[in-house]
Amino acid sequence: MASIIVPANPSESRAGRFGVYGGRYVPETLVAALDELEHAYDEAKADAAFQAELSSLLKDYAGRPTPLYFAKRLTESLGGAKIYLKREDLLHTGAHKINNALGQGLLAKRMGKKRVIAETGAGQHGVATATVCALLGLECVVYMGDVDMERQDLNVKRMRLLGAEVRGVSSGSKTLKDAISEAMRDWVTNVRTTYYLLGSALGAHPYPTMVRDFHRVISKELKQQILKKEGRLPTAIIACVGGGSNAIGAFYEFIGDRQVRLIGVEAGGRGRALGEHAARFQGGAPGVLQGTFSYVLQDEDGQIALTHSVSAGLDYASIGPEHAALHDSGRAEYVSCDDAAALDAVVKLARTEGILPALESAHAVAEAIRIAPALAPSDILVVNLSGRGDKDMGILARELKL
Ligand SMILES: *Cc1c(COP(=O)(O)O)cnc(C)c1O
Repeated sequence: MASIIVPANPSESRAGRFGVYGGRYVPETLVAALDELEHAYDEAKADAAFQAELSSLLKDYAGRPTPLYFAKRLTESLGGAKIYLKREDLLHTGAHKINNALGQGLLAKRMGKKRVIAETGAGQHGVATATVCALLGLECVVYMGDVDMERQDLNVKRMRLLGAEVRGVSSGSKTLKDAISEAMRDWVTNVRTTYYLLGSALGAHPYPTMVRDFHRVISKELKQQILKKEGRLPTAIIACVGGGSNAIGAFYEFIGDRQVRLIGVEAGGRGRALGEHAARFQGGAPGVLQGTFSYVLQDEDGQIALTHSVSAGLDYASIGPEHAALHDSGRAEYVSCDDAAALDAVVKLARTEGILPALESAHAVAEAIRIAPALAPSDILVVNLSGRGDKDMGILARELKL
């Protein structure tokens, strides 16, 4: 249930708040665990040895830095702004999620926790977590809604092969929101031995800050790469927004560069009615869901709405609190892209560039395709290509009648 709670002092800007958003709305039993996590993370962040180990794994294991690729044929076919792709799709396990899973996995080990739990929707975060647990020798349990387990059967098998236990969740809508609730229940019960490895820039403080920090490497690399290739900053950076981790990672280093437009793309699904999409900034209102205060898709009684998107990874009723603040301040713009435009973008990118994007990432590609023609050839758009499309082949084959 979401309730409209405005923090006592909205102007107070303490750790864990982004404007009025963020915070820590959890049962009392988790407060000590979140304090312990915050403290451990602050220490790790300042520890050169921790940072060196993380950098080394990001480089040699995950495959960073990821290239910044000029999409020449896509650009020429649209006849406007130059389009670059930040190739997070080339990372190990196929998406940006490994950046965060590696960071938090190392933190779990440093904290002496031998058991890791995670939630997963499409299964991508579950696969990244299972991968990191195998790498670091940690026990891994992944909660996944029964509906998602059926839809994403291949990822369930990948997780099992990596040695993780996948626990089906049969409550509620049997999807991501219910998997998070179940993971939180496990954490409350096993908090002493267990690390909760959350998969997006969501949840109670310190998660939104910590997850953003682990993805910040995307915009750090991107800034250097675009300055080297073009000698100036881009006109806009475009990223899809589920919970908001790949987008905040791609935006973060540019927030102070006011001339760079930051464009987040939400899932417009198959219609504007509540339940048909996951566009929180169009149909949502401020509320609390799963530990944080942000925009939430809800009905008039504060009951969480169902969501729909062709891409499982964008299909969540709330959005990371830092995006809520960037939205309200006007620093970032949020638009939505419907299922049909995302599918068209997959085909377009496949046939002009030989790149199959994840359906989530295709939402960002679609926005670039929409706005590029009206911009000048001197404009530069950077699309954060958060993942690759292999995982979506079943859906693509059905939707595109391949
Ligand atoms: C999970 C996922 C997303 C959505 O998550 P964010 O936290 O919003 O980044 C986007 N793209 C891909 C490829 C994903 O796997």
